[in-house]
Amino acid sequence: MKEFHTEAINHPIFKLIGEASDELGVDAYVIGGFVRDYFLKRNIPKDIDVVAIGSGIELAKKVASKLKGKPEISVFKNFGTAMIKHKELELEFVGARKESYNRDSRKPIVEDGTLEDDQNRRDFTINAMALSLNSGDFGKLLDPFDGLTDLDKQIIRTPLEPGITYSDDPLRMMRAIRFATQLNFTIELKSLQAITENKDRIKIVSKERIVDELHKILLSSKPSVGLKLMHQTGLLPLILPELTALQGIEEKEGQRHKDNFWHTLEVVDNIAENTDNLWLRWAALLHDIGKAPTKKFHKKNGWTFHAHEFVGAKMVYRLFKRLRMPLNEKMKFVQKMVLMSSRPIILSEDHVTDSAVRRLVFDAGDFVEDLMTLCEADITTKNPRKQRKYKNNFKIVRQKIVEVEERDHVRNFQPPVSGEQIMTTFNLKPSKEIGIIKDAIKEAILEGEIPNEYEAAYNFMLEKGRKMNLKVHSE
Ligand code: ATP
Ligand code: MG
Repeated sequence: MKEFHTEAINHPIFKLIGEASDELGVDAYVIGGFVRDYFLKRNIPKDIDVVAIGSGIELAKKVASKLKGKPEISVFKNFGTAMIKHKELELEFVGARKESYNRDSRKPIVEDGTLEDDQNRRDFTINAMALSLNSGDFGKLLDPFDGLTDLDKQIIRTPLEPGITYSDDPLRMMRAIRFATQLNFTIELKSLQAITENKDRIKIVSKERIVDELHKILLSSKPSVGLKLMHQTGLLPLILPELTALQGIEEKEGQRHKDNFWHTLEVVDNIAENTDNLWLRWAALLHDIGKAPTKKFHKKNGWTFHAHEFVGAKMVYRLFKRLRMPLNEKMKFVQKMVLMSSRPIILSEDHVTDSAVRRLVFDAGDFVEDLMTLCEADITTKNPRKQRKYKNNFKIVRQKIVEVEERDHVRNFQPPVSGEQIMTTFNLKPSKEIGIIKDAIKEAILEGEIPNEYEAAYNFMLEKGRKMNLKVHSE
């Protein structure tokens, strides 16, 4: 066992926890993510795990009594854990434990244990390192599985036999892939094989936990790393079959379409460079899912994916529902992005007109910039001339969006003439004529025939009424 002292932990909270444990006569260690990220020189996480060789809850109480302001403790008796929120930190205390599993559940049977037992139950060697907090050996590293070397070699490895580790708690398969993506580490071959063999056991993991890991993969700087690992191990079709269905290139009569699965991975990596918005990244991941069910070959037109955006948007709802993701405005945002994902592309290929831009802004509303970000990420052509042309056209579109919006304010369009006004002007009861006139005004504004102003719209309304043989009501 490699053990040495480090200057690891200068935050005063650790000294205080050490004192509290000395007073109780228990050994205490900071363990897991904090230690890993400390050695990686990553941003130190806000959640800090402390393990006590004894009662974690008692230690938490002692610590709280020593802290200024006597913070509240949340005690989870069933789990033997306690949590203290102290400033920006979340301190989680747990007694060292030994775990054993049965086949149908990822919830272990737990008994008190030694530090070593507790390190054995950890998922990866890099997550099993502990730093002592007691005054006698403050800062001493206990690293029984040589996690430090794995950090150095950038390897994800399990402390025990990988087959058992992943079968016991299959969530660890997703965690391995997530850490590999976040840290840009390699999963050790034996682990990768064990994940492949145990992939079907993902079914005993709750959807919420799987989605948590998916979010973290998507939020990393290169999400394709994780998506490829999910693909390679066979987890992807079990979790997101809509994506695997996009894989493959078909050829008929000498015509081929692109592989929309690998294309999608490129799009997700592209968008990760330009936004941290999780839901926009989801939209990038799902923007083409409608292409699998709509794919057809036409003798004249070649491969088509007619209405794939519409079909895709419907699939987004079913996918969110299946994964128990919230069916709220985030989901609607993803749907809207998928539905509109091809709209700016037409503009990028062609001459950009004001009215086309106005319609885009009108339909996308506040999400027009997000939509542009998605479409820019969608450019994956390897032809440098096309790449330049599309990017440049999108630049023009972005400029025009600003110009058009300054002039016409169609982003959150409010009709300049109200329905009520139309009714009084022509002495009408609620009827379809009012809708027709309102729509005609809106169309005229979007087409650029009239400016988005009251007077112009009022005059337009009078003329439209005249054409419809309506009489102006004079009081
Ligand atoms: P992050 O907070 O960035 O997600 P972390 O490593 O701190 O990373 P947590 O989920 O906070 O992850 O878990 C804290 C520690 O608990 C881990 O470092 C690991 O030692 C252990 N752990 C968490 N989940 C599992 C699991 N499913 N199986 C085994 N050990 C786990
Ligand atoms: Mg953590």
